[in-house]
Amino acid sequence: MIITVDGPAAAGKGTISGYLSQKYKLAYFDTGMVYRAVGLQMVLVGEDLSNKDAALKIARALTFPQMMELSVHPDFRSDIGSNAASIVSAYSEVRAALLDMQKNFALNPVFADGTAAKGVIYDGRDTGTVICPQADLKLFVTASTEVRAERRYKEFLQKGIITSYKKVLDDMKARDERDSNRSAAPLKPADDAIVIDTSKLDIEAVLAYIVPLVEAKL
Ligand code: C5P
Repeated sequence: MIITVDGPAAAGKGTISGYLSQKYKLAYFDTGMVYRAVGLQMVLVGEDLSNKDAALKIARALTFPQMMELSVHPDFRSDIGSNAASIVSAYSEVRAALLDMQKNFALNPVFADGTAAKGVIYDGRDTGTVICPQADLKLFVTASTEVRAERRYKEFLQKGIITSYKKVLDDMKARDERDSNRSAAPLKPADDAIVIDTSKLDIEAVLAYIVPLVEAKL
């Protein structure tokens, strides 16, 4: 069983994917991590994010263990990591270099502790269109920019990160703009994806809608 969950930032993809992964014993691949890893590594070695060749070199050398190591860095999920990921992910060569690592995960899906899983949930932007077009179920989860910025702002406050709603909203608009208008794998639903707008729904309502869709595919 392969499920793809695509959509813009803070639409609810992570919560949905985490829930389905536990409920149906599916391994979870958060594909944003590969771009965050490359973007953050660029920042850490002091490379300018406009240096496509440097990003490509880092992407080609990226391994799963290195990505996991970078994922515990405080800036992996901060606005620094998010913006860096969004910039390097627009380079088509970087995307191509990271393709096999993402596609191959579905061939032998395992949980973090190495135990075998019954399938995979991919969370990202292009997982239903590029990474796994053969997926059994494709979801495209979205919400208005303001609602998503509000959610992200609250998450930052909970983590003690000092910022303003305006900054979070501006960053999100800039990231949406880059993700949607790049020539390489722009953010858009697959033709056969089910689009879910979570702007006015709480997570219980969203899951109550999705679970029967998964059950129907089992
Ligand atoms: O999902 P997350 O916010 O962690 O993704 C960080 C960035 O990585 C996104 O803004 C997007 O630019 C890029 N990304 C992508 N394709 C994916 C996943 C993430 O381009 N499949």
